[in-house]
Amino acid sequence: MNDSLTGNLDTARRIALKSKRELDSMRTAGHIVADALNAVFDALEPGITTAELDDIARRKIQAEGAKPAFLGLYGFPAVACISINAEIVHGIPSERVLSEGDLVSVDCGAIVDDYYSDHARTAIVGETDDEERKRLVDVCRESLAQGIERGSPHNRVGDISHAVEQFVRDAGFELVREYVGHGIGRSLHEAPPVPNLGQPGSGPLLMEGMTIAIEPMIMTGSWETEVLDDGWTVVTADGSLSAHFEHTVAITADGPEVLTTTR
Ligand code: MG
Ligand code: MG
Repeated sequence: MNDSLTGNLDTARRIALKSKRELDSMRTAGHIVADALNAVFDALEPGITTAELDDIARRKIQAEGAKPAFLGLYGFPAVACISINAEIVHGIPSERVLSEGDLVSVDCGAIVDDYYSDHARTAIVGETDDEERKRLVDVCRESLAQGIERGSPHNRVGDISHAVEQFVRDAGFELVREYVGHGIGRSLHEAPPVPNLGQPGSGPLLMEGMTIAIEPMIMTGSWETEVLDDGWTVVTADGSLSAHFEHTVAITADGPEVLTTTR
């Protein structure tokens, strides 16, 4: 589990604080990936393939003069990770056709001036009557918002982790253990790891100039995961449904600033 597009717990220890200029590059990279995901989700409809969605992300990022962050990283073969239903993260785009009601998670990154952004969202294809499926998406999105809210100087990483965990548990869902959020900047993965479970007041202190990716991955069933034979796709071991949301966030004197937003 050392080389993965989602952070792991042994990410290098040193935390790099970013200058105003570095934050400007990361903000631009964040805008570009947010626009790319807007285009991907605008195109989400029954009958489209995940390779077509990947192509939309690639064209949007390249049209802005940025580089896709995931393509070729650790050998990943595409611009976006696209994970469906029981797939949690790292799904490989393919000729697979999406159906009404599928739960689709898209995770994508861009590089501007050598600085990275990392952003993920989950949505349902078309319509569904499955209330739990809808609630899973809403809870995952809101748990990310709860985590981001704790992203102020003098708080600790564990305050973010705890806020995410508490919100998801109160809603009756489970959280992924083996894959975590992470520092981000000149690399996709920097210190510190940002787990989705934790104790308040624990972990590294948050400081102005830190940039982190917060990324709850949650499921309707057990937290255990497996990797498919393609060596990439992480799925729930029990086949339960999963959702994933992620923002790149800067810790500023005024509180958290979400960098992966549209302009
Ligand atoms: Mg990430
Ligand atoms: Mg990501």
